[in-house]
Amino acid sequence: MNINISRRNAAKSFLAVAAGGMIPSLKGEAVTTGAKGYDETIRTQVCVIGGGSGGTGAALAAARAGVDVVLLERDSILGGTATSSFVNVWRPVTGGDGIPRELFMAMARDPSALTLPANCDLNSYYIKSQLGPRNIAGKNVKRGVGVTFEPRAMDYTVRSLLDATGRCKILFSTTFYRAHLKDNKIVSIEAWFKGKRILIQASVFIDCTADGDVCADAGCAYHMGEDPKSRYNEPHAPEKARMLLNGLTLCYRITDTGVKQKPYLPEEIKENSCSLSACYDRMPNGDIVAIADHHIDIHGSGHFKCPFPKAPFGIPLRCLQPKGVENLMIACRAAGFSHIASGAARLQRTLITLGQAAGNAAAMAVEKNVRVDQVDVKELQARLVKQNVTITA
Ligand SMILES: Cc1cc2nc3c(=O)[nH]c(=O)nc-3n(C[C@H](O)[C@H](O)[C@H](O)COP(=O)(O)OP(=O)(O)OC[C@H]3O[C@@H](n4cnc5c(N)ncnc54)[C@H](O)[C@@H]3O)c2cc1C
Repeated sequence: MNINISRRNAAKSFLAVAAGGMIPSLKGEAVTTGAKGYDETIRTQVCVIGGGSGGTGAALAAARAGVDVVLLERDSILGGTATSSFVNVWRPVTGGDGIPRELFMAMARDPSALTLPANCDLNSYYIKSQLGPRNIAGKNVKRGVGVTFEPRAMDYTVRSLLDATGRCKILFSTTFYRAHLKDNKIVSIEAWFKGKRILIQASVFIDCTADGDVCADAGCAYHMGEDPKSRYNEPHAPEKARMLLNGLTLCYRITDTGVKQKPYLPEEIKENSCSLSACYDRMPNGDIVAIADHHIDIHGSGHFKCPFPKAPFGIPLRCLQPKGVENLMIACRAAGFSHIASGAARLQRTLITLGQAAGNAAAMAVEKNVRVDQVDVKELQARLVKQNVTITA
C-alpha cells in the first residue's frame, strides 16, 4: 500500500463541507502586491513558516547571512515542541556545535534558565551533552547528560538573537493557510492573523511547520507512516507500508455521559516493531550538512530495544530540498527522512542545525538568484564550518 494523501485536498473538502461550498484552488494564481482581498501584503527575501527548532535555526541563519526574513509562527512563543509542548530537553546527541551551542551559552547567562550541577563548567557540560549513546563491541553504552531548559528562556533567548540580526520580522499568532504557485515556484503564501488575511511574497520559503504543511499544500509528494523495504532498500523496513505514526499522548476532557466506556489504544501503536541500524549505514555521503548519532527512537514502539549507532551519521542537504518546487526548502521533522531514519534525525539540536543549513542555503539562493537545488554545496559546507557546524564525524 502506497500511502500518499493530499492534505490540500483533504483540507479543501473539509472546509467545503464546513462552509457548505467549494473552496477554489489557488494553485497557479498570480498574485501581486496590493492584491484584492488581503488586509496586508508583505514582501521579503526569505519566509520561514513555523518557529520551532528547525524554524528558529533557519530564520537566524538566513537573517545572519544578510537577507530579510519573515518568520511566521501560529503560537505566541518560539521553540515549538520544545517550549509549547514542554519537551524542554535536549537529549545527548553529537553535532549541535553551531546555533544550539550558542543558544545553550546564551541561556546559561540566566541562572534560572538551565538545570545544571553546582559550579558547572559550561564548556565541559556541553561537550558531555553531545556524547550520544553508542554500541561499543556489541554493548549499548549510555553516555552523556541532557540539557534541560526553561521554555520561557528558550523563547526569549531565540527572540533576542533574532532581534539582534535587525533583519527578521516575527509574525506571532499567524497561521500559514495556503501556498500560491506559478511555474513550479511559490510566489506567495496566504496566512491569517486574528481574522486578517495576509499575503506574504518571498524569493525562498522554508517549511518548518513540523508536519510539512507548506510542502503538502504546494503539491510536493510525500508519504506518511512506515515505508516498505522496497522504497529505500532498508533491510529492517517491513515488506509492506503501513500507516503507522509516532505514538502520541491522548488527552481527554472527561464528561459523564452516562455511557459505559472501554479503554482504547490504537492497534498500530501496540504492534509496531522498530527496524534498526540499517539506516545509519545508508546515510549517504557528499552533501552532508549536519551529523547526529541518536538511536532510532520511534515512540510507542519499544524504542529502547533499538541498538545504538556505532558512529555518527551524516545528514545530506538533499533531505531539505523537496522535489517539484524550486524555491522551497524544508527544515523540520518532516524533512526527507525515511520513517526509520526520522526516529534518529528528529532531535531538536539536529533540527536546529538542519535549519541553520537551510537558512544559509536559502540566503545563498537569494544572493545568487538560483534555485535552492542549485546552491553550491561545497560553498555551503564551508560557510557552515565557519559557523562551527560539525559536518564530519
Ligand atoms: C513526546 C516527545 C518527546 C521528545 N523528546 C525529545 C527529547 O528529549 N529531546 C529532543 O531533542 N527531542 C525530543 N523530541 C523530538 C523533538 O522535540 C521534535 O522532533 C522537534 O521538536 C520537532 O521540531 P520541528 O522544528 O520539526 O517542529 P516544532 O518544534 O513542533 O515546530 C513547528 C512550529 O511550527 C508551527 N506551525 C505549525 N503549523 C503552522 C502553520 N500552519 N502556521 C504557522 N505556524 C505553524 C508550530 O506552532 C510550531 O511552533 C520529542 C518529541 C516528542 C513528541
